[in-house]
Amino acid sequence: MKDHLGREIDYLRISVTDRCNLRCIYCMPAEGVEWKSHNEMLRIEEIARVARIAAEEGIKKVRLTGGEPLVKKGIVSLITDIKAAGIKDVSLTTNGILLPRMAQELKDAGLDRVNISLDTLDAQKYREITRLGNIEDVFAAIDAALEYGFHPVKVNAVAVRSENQDFLEFAKMSIERPLHVRFIEYMPVGESSGGSGSGWDIHDTIPSDELRQIINEAAAAEGLPALEPVAKDDAPGGGGPAKYWKFPGAQGTVGFISAVSNHFCAQCNRLRLTADGKIRPCLFSDEEIDVKAALQGSDDDVRAALYAALHVKPDAHHHKEGTDRRMSQIGG
Ligand code: SAM
Ligand code: SF4
Repeated sequence: MKDHLGREIDYLRISVTDRCNLRCIYCMPAEGVEWKSHNEMLRIEEIARVARIAAEEGIKKVRLTGGEPLVKKGIVSLITDIKAAGIKDVSLTTNGILLPRMAQELKDAGLDRVNISLDTLDAQKYREITRLGNIEDVFAAIDAALEYGFHPVKVNAVAVRSENQDFLEFAKMSIERPLHVRFIEYMPVGESSGGSGSGWDIHDTIPSDELRQIINEAAAAEGLPALEPVAKDDAPGGGGPAKYWKFPGAQGTVGFISAVSNHFCAQCNRLRLTADGKIRPCLFSDEEIDVKAALQGSDDDVRAALYAALHVKPDAHHHKEGTDRRMSQIGG
């Protein structure tokens, strides 16, 4: 599928639920968001239908996200259905809490790879950031992801200036094991609706170039060599918007996703489907196309909704304005 600017769109990110078993301070308020009723959300069969029609139109990669995708009932059968629709690359972004106990059935269903979110290596800080989480569960999730052969395994950390995270320790996780640690610039998503209540603002965003320098300086202080660039063809999982580096001889890589400091809109290849059935052509734009309504009709109606979204996909994003929806509602 091509959008109105000729960009090839072959990637669909699906938020399967707005619910979550954590309350990360940059993503949700402490009391949680007002959950939408089940009637307002897409049913698993409806999500599978959109994915099938999208596959017929040329979508090749699907990522399941949320909220927390692993709390969604029917997630395993959804993966089976999406694979059966011919999607070669099905991935999942998860906080990892439920991954160890679900890894086998996810693997059996055909899930190809996982991204696990972890913003600190300090147990107490992890609890503060997630408000509810136990860091040991996430370490177990990383172990399980490697053990069950999901490939590649990426660990995503949102870098926040005022949080004083130990970025070098994070980056070093990529040395001994085939882990791909990625730093994501903190994005002011949901700010126009009062944000997450965390008080973070754009000054907390650490531009990727600065962050790489911070890591290299800390590495030099420990006598470690600097990160070296990874060629695009060697990037884990086909690359995407992240730029990858690695410590010489390391098994994994260190990636940087510069959604704020360096827009990659010209190469954007994705559409998003929200849990309540809206196609969102751009993470940072609140313009949405209602696919839930289209699902009451024929496959051609759903197809038309997909193409309508391609037609209004913005040329570039304007994140400084914030968005009406929170990250947990859009899927990140
Ligand atoms: N619950 C799953 C998880 O945490 O991995 C999937 C959904 S979560 C919204 C997807 C990703 O968005 C996570 O890696 C999370 O850290 C990231 N995220 C949430 N709010 C963000 C923000 N304001 N800026 C940058 N990344 C954010
Ligand atoms: Fe839940 Fe993920 Fe948002 Fe944290 S970032 S509250 S785990 S949806």
